[in-house]
Amino acid sequence: MELCNVSTIKQILEHHGLKMQKSLGQNFLINREVPYRIAASVENADTVLEIGPGIGCLTKELCEVSERVIAIELDRGLIPVLGETLGDYDNVTVINDDVLKVDLHALLADKGRVAVCANLPYYITTPILMYLIESGLNLSGITVMVQNEVAQRLASKPGSAEYGAVTVAVAAYGTVKKILHVPAGNFYPAPKVDSAVIQIVPHETPLCTPKSAENFRGVVRAAFAQRRKKLSNAISSAYPAIPKEKIAAAIEALGLSPDVRGERLSCKEFSDLSDLLFD
Ligand code: SAM
Repeated sequence: MELCNVSTIKQILEHHGLKMQKSLGQNFLINREVPYRIAASVENADTVLEIGPGIGCLTKELCEVSERVIAIELDRGLIPVLGETLGDYDNVTVINDDVLKVDLHALLADKGRVAVCANLPYYITTPILMYLIESGLNLSGITVMVQNEVAQRLASKPGSAEYGAVTVAVAAYGTVKKILHVPAGNFYPAPKVDSAVIQIVPHETPLCTPKSAENFRGVVRAAFAQRRKKLSNAISSAYPAIPKEKIAAAIEALGLSPDVRGERLSCKEFSDLSDLLFD
């Protein structure tokens, strides 16, 4: 059955007495090329973890290319649908849960190297990305559909308008590659904006190794919470207990101007700065 098709989607939902759940960000793919290309991007993985399979159009493609697929879907109504649409595959397990509530370490403990693939609701893309990046899971890559503007943000360089806290966190974790531009008309119902599929591949050798990941994240957050301010003032407002002289000395030790703004710093500079501030 061709799942990337508006009439198939309507038929399946009607047959199961379901409606598209806008609140769960349900925009299903209707161009088969897209799941095909996402699945083709999976490399070096024993298991693929799919988040939000919907009616299973990407899941099917993943089952074709990988040994084992685990799909986590929050919408209980879609579980019997997936039972039917994935009925031909014995290498897939579907779990009905909220991915943010699942103990992924326990779930994936004996599943080898794991690639994550997801076409997620836009409102939780960033929280889920951050969750995966900070999880410490042994991932071979994360391939995810994001709004085009988020793709630009994630690939942006220090000093650009798009560069932000998430860019730094992702850059510290891995290399971002754009796989595919996906116009809004590739979804049913069509969202208001275009999307892009990006792949994040973890660095083999870390770009930066802050002594405390928590302090690193805190300093990055502080810098971008007030991005129009000088970095020294932004840090001082977030950490009033750190003497201003210590902040100034740390910025100077990195060879940066005392007036520098946080948006100019690379992830390595943020990492060194947080080490110096919390020394
Ligand atoms: N993968 C399908 C496709 O590409 O057509 C569906 C994508 S749709 C944009 C997002 C899917 O994620 C929906 O099926 C939705 O029910 C599911 N979802 C939303 N929030 C979720 C969560 N917290 N955990 C797991 N699945 C979630």
